[in-house]
Amino acid sequence: MRPVNRGPSPQTADFASYRLALAELVSRLGHYCSYCERYIPAGLAVEHIRPKDAEMYPHLIGRWDNYLLGCVNCNGTKTNKDVLLDQIFLVDRDNTFHAFTYTPDGKVKPSEGLSDEHRQLALDTLALTGLEKPINEVYDENGELVYLDRVSQRRLTWLLAKSSKDDLETSPTEGMRRQIIRTAITRGFFSIWMTVFEDDPVMRQMFINAFPGTAPECFDATTGPISPRPANGLDHAGKI
Ligand SMILES: [Zn+2]
Repeated sequence: MRPVNRGPSPQTADFASYRLALAELVSRLGHYCSYCERYIPAGLAVEHIRPKDAEMYPHLIGRWDNYLLGCVNCNGTKTNKDVLLDQIFLVDRDNTFHAFTYTPDGKVKPSEGLSDEHRQLALDTLALTGLEKPINEVYDENGELVYLDRVSQRRLTWLLAKSSKDDLETSPTEGMRRQIIRTAITRGFFSIWMTVFEDDPVMRQMFINAFPGTAPECFDATTGPISPRPANGLDHAGKI
């Protein structure tokens, strides 16, 4: 799960309507769902980390630091479930790239070697948005059925990344590297590209630079993950 920096709020006061934050969030973080990492060219929504249910966190409805970007699948699963910041990993606070492992079969799971506590946090994070299982259909806000399966999309992206890697081995040119970046950023799934190219720090640094808002402090000079993530002023940051 791509760790990000949304940066400081573009305004001093809270947002009168959370929808007003959408353009700035997309500008800072790119057209990607903060949870499933898919590229969503249109239809991303402002996602409230702690739900916008008026009875739960009314003081956070307009708060910049409570916003990420979410697709209809992830939002539709997360709904207004309560979120305690110390009990899940968050892309703006933790090194979520280090916490999860992506595999060729489209699965995403807690990384090997995590402590029992961290493993549970990782599992709870996946369950929050249903990333650990396929979802074939959801209803959007207009009641329309949308057929989307995030697992199959991850499998497909893995194959695409693998083919791209083969192409680079055949034709190791700067132009090929740039073409792979163009493919990756219009496909999404940062973590899959980073995993398939795990032995190519040049490409990995290019992915880190090319996906807007990726937190550079989560990666060392050879693009290995830095954990725990350095403190960034947000509550309960740096759990991993
Ligand atoms: Zn999503």
